[in-house]
Amino acid sequence: MSASNLSASGSATVYNYGSINIDHVYRVPHLVRPGETLSSTDYQIVLGGKGANQTIALARAGGRVAHWAQLGQADEWALATLKDAGADIDDVTLLEGSSGHTVIQVDDDGENAIVLFGGTNQSFSKERIRALIDGADSEGWLLLQNECNDIEDVIRQALGRGLKVAFNPAPMTPAIRELALSELSLLFVNRGEAAALVELPEESNANTLIQALQQALPNTDIVLTLGSEGAWRIDGERNEPLYQPARPVQAVDTTGAGDTFIGYYMAAVQAGCDASTCLERATAAAALAVQRAGAATGIPTIEEVETFLQ
Ligand code: ADP
Repeated sequence: MSASNLSASGSATVYNYGSINIDHVYRVPHLVRPGETLSSTDYQIVLGGKGANQTIALARAGGRVAHWAQLGQADEWALATLKDAGADIDDVTLLEGSSGHTVIQVDDDGENAIVLFGGTNQSFSKERIRALIDGADSEGWLLLQNECNDIEDVIRQALGRGLKVAFNPAPMTPAIRELALSELSLLFVNRGEAAALVELPEESNANTLIQALQQALPNTDIVLTLGSEGAWRIDGERNEPLYQPARPVQAVDTTGAGDTFIGYYMAAVQAGCDASTCLERATAAAALAVQRAGAATGIPTIEEVETFLQ
């Protein structure tokens, strides 16, 4: 399938209720110790957040995506990357107050330590959530992660309006297990999220995780990603799970691999591709992303993915 016929023109929008974070990344000789003051040797401010990354991936894949978010007024610059990728940012509201942000230390061994402040990602009002859902095309998809507030409400309202809902429970919290996950159209989980969901050790092998997921959510389509071990699509109609090996590439930075995968997978779903094509395209895009530094900056364009797939 070529870039032109993957295009989402004519298909319903994916609405992404998604975080935008400002990442403050400090390079340090070692992670700061209690009571210590440490000089950093480098400092960068970059766009982050699983929501923003997934929207950028979906848009670069040629998908039609509208990002629902809130951002502090001072950080409007962060929207340029979403807009340039082709995402609709009309429903990103600029507010007084602090954006969602992280303070990230990266040491000489590549080890990191992160402080996350939810900021405006966590302050959606009930009225605003209601207005966003009411304004959505009911033929569309809602995509969401676990970095904004009132996830349960958003899922329930979207399902009530007839939208299809795709959920990536990241970061995973115990409260996720209480959600109506069996009503989702699509669930994206990586190894850690899957293991936490079905209460198994993270070292569990793919078969064990798949069986437990099938038992817990027998009627839900699930995509399980396992890093360099590839990805599985578990079918809610009890067909044999589909397996897509990862591309054998030299990874330099796997941050955002899952977000790239999800964005490309959703764009392929939106374009009407079958499950194995969705897996193939998402896997190719993620393989390109892991060969580059950075999350948002590493997300490939559709042309790059097409070339890689040839
Ligand atoms: P997350 O980033 O959420 O932890 P994963 O680590 O499971 O997600 O990665 C998502 C997908 O990215 C994988 O299914 C695979 O296709 C691709 N990927 C991740 N790591 C690698 C790697 N080292 N080499 C090739 N592809 C990778």
